[in-house]
Parts: sequence; C-alpha cells; structure tokens
Amino acid sequence: MTEAARDLCAYLNESPSPYHAVLETIRRLEAVGFSRLREDEAWELGPGDARYVTRADSSLIAFRVGERSPSEGGFRIVGAHTDSPGLRLKPQPASGKEGYAQLGVEVYGGVLLYSWLDRDLGVAGRVVVEEADGSLSRRMVRLHAPLARVASLAIHLEREVNDKGLQLNKQNHLAPMIGLGEGPAAVEKLFADLSVDPSRVRGFDLGLYDLTAATLGGQDDAFVFSGRLDNLASCHAATTALVRAQRSSATQVIALFDHEEVGSGSAQGAAGPFLRDVLTRIVHADHASFLRAIAASFCVSADMAHAVHPNYVDKHEGKHMPRIGKGPVVKTNVQQRYATDGETGARFRALCRQADVPVQDFVTRSDLACGSTIGPITAAQLGIATVDVGNPMLSMHSIREMCGAADVGMMIAALGRLFA
Ligand SMILES: [Zn+2]
Repeated sequence: MTEAARDLCAYLNESPSPYHAVLETIRRLEAVGFSRLREDEAWELGPGDARYVTRADSSLIAFRVGERSPSEGGFRIVGAHTDSPGLRLKPQPASGKEGYAQLGVEVYGGVLLYSWLDRDLGVAGRVVVEEADGSLSRRMVRLHAPLARVASLAIHLEREVNDKGLQLNKQNHLAPMIGLGEGPAAVEKLFADLSVDPSRVRGFDLGLYDLTAATLGGQDDAFVFSGRLDNLASCHAATTALVRAQRSSATQVIALFDHEEVGSGSAQGAAGPFLRDVLTRIVHADHASFLRAIAASFCVSADMAHAVHPNYVDKHEGKHMPRIGKGPVVKTNVQQRYATDGETGARFRALCRQADVPVQDFVTRSDLACGSTIGPITAAQLGIATVDVGNPMLSMHSIREMCGAADVGMMIAALGRLFA
C-alpha cells in the first residue's frame, strides 16, 4: 500500500510546475514504450500503439490504441489536471522597496494565500530563449534552492490578527523578497541561476513552489503531505494505471490538462479542442464513426475530493463525509458542477468493486456553493458519459496539502479496472 504512496511522493517531487509534471509523466510513459506524436505531423496508428502528444508543454494526452477500432470499442478516458494554484511571475517581475529585491507575482487560481507566507520558495516553469540563429526554443527550468520568501508581518505590528483574521491584498502583500539590492539585477541573476542567458530571454511562464519535499507522515505513515496534491495525485494515478495496463479491446486514454484552476478556457485546457482533436485523429474515419466512438466511450474525471475535516464537521453534509483512507470518492452535484449521474456513478462503483476497493460518496451541503472540475467541461464538449471522482484530501489549495496514503493505491486499482 505505501509503495504507491511513496511513488506518488517521487512524482510530486519531480513536478514543481505543470511543465515538469508533463516531463515526469513522459519519462514514465517512455520507460514502458510510449513514444511522442507531434500535432503538426501525420499520424499512422495501429492496434496496440502506445503514443503521447503534448500541447503548449503543459497538457498531455497519452493513449494505447485498442484491439478493436475506436468506433466499436470506444475510448476509456481518465481526465485530470496538471496545474495547481500558486504565485506566478509577472512579465516584468523586477521590483523592490527599501533595499529589498522582490518579484512581482500574479495569483494563479484559488490560492489559500496565507499558506504561502514564510515558506522557502524555489522557482520552476518554462523559459523561451532566442537561440544564436534567431529561432525561439523552450526550456523547462527549475531553481531548487530557497530563493524567495513572502514574509508575514510580525504580530507586534498587527495585534488583532488572530481574532480578526489575516487580510492579504494580492497586489500589495505577496511580492516575495529574493535578496538585498536592485530588482532588475536580481532578476538577471535569477535567470543566470536557471542556466539561461538573461540577454536571450524572450518570454517565460514561471511560478514559485514550496521546497519542502512530499513525504509520508502521521502514525503508520497514514498521510501524504505535499504541495500540488490537487491535482497531481490524480495525474499520477492516471499515469500509473495506464503504464501498468495491458492492451485491451477499448482504446485507453489519459488526458492531463493545464488551466483547470483558472476555468480551463485555453488551447491546452479542458474547454479547448485538444481532447477532441486527438480522439478525432485516433478514429481517423468519417464523422459518423467518430460519433459511434464517442457513444461507446466512458470518461472518469479524476480530481481531488473534500475529506471530512474533524475540526469543521459542520461544513460537510451529514450523509456524505468522505474519510481519508476509505477509498475513492464519487462526486455528485445535480447542478452539473460534477458530471456524475446515477448511471456513470454506478459504473465507477462497479470498477471499485472489481478492484476490491471501497468507494465513498460526496455532495456539498445544499447551503454551500460547489466547486467544479474538468468532468462537466469535457462531457459538454464531447458528449461522453462521464463520472467525477477523486481521492479525499484536506487543506485543498494550501501550499501544503494532505491526503491518505492508502487511498493512492486504491484509486490506481480502480482506474486499472477501467483500462482492463
Ligand atoms: Zn483545485
């Protein structure tokens, strides 16, 4: 059981950004024979072919073509997302006051802001550089060193903070300090430390991340403590299930999208055409054949679920309180914030039963707003029967989240049945 959780920690530690999550997924896929396809080339596919394709370096779709044609065997899809809430560098990040060199940052997604204070932060993401011949190339970069810190204000200077709650202004209070000196010189040094010639940088997509490594914790290693569990834990489960799967009659697909935390509306996001484009090219036949494939398909949208919190039990619906360690959660919301219905939920419960894994149910309290995920988006885009599921966790969108170690292997086993 803990072996799968330890492997999740290894995956998380290699994935400080969506770009790195894609790189680590590729490494694992290639290790078992998957090979890259490019979207700007012609594709020739046959039964059993194991391929992957990326878009914008931060979204990935991998598939193993089924023994039967997709129009007969359909697709078995696991969807998840590679991005996590965090702080991203502004295009002109050099800033500073009163002798401090600082970085200008934008808030990406629904960050639990206070959790980013007083952490040792590294930098990771993608840099676009102009090569000597004038061409542009993309480089994935990572500074795995305690470079940056968003310092909190001493309690002596704000005595009521514990009673009144911490108010953080996103523009004024989140710029991390990265040194003593001038902002522009500090940013140049940052690129040099990323092994990039500062004079050749033409663009970048960089974010901060917590240097604290993912680890098992609690008594008997009951928990996983890490950043980015939402939703790299599901990317890891999807990838592991696909890597382990044998060829089957259906075409197995994992679709790992960027931009879920900001609404999915991009070329590489779940609301864009990426999955449709790839499935269309796998079917590689007339439109009616594609529609037959869609009708024969099933999608499991995997994103993390809210475990019951012992200190805030009243935030949960009394009959739907997922527990850490008790297996995957089926998420339902009749407003279609989740795509699950009675039939797709039943299909996932059957997969859990086949895998000998317990399964739980979640609905949000009727007087609270419900979050959403890629399930309803892909369902509405493609018309594929979809269920929303996820492993239970706490501290969602904190810089340091937690989930259950035993649940990691259970989700992989359930997804494995989907691919069987
Ligand atoms: Zn999220």
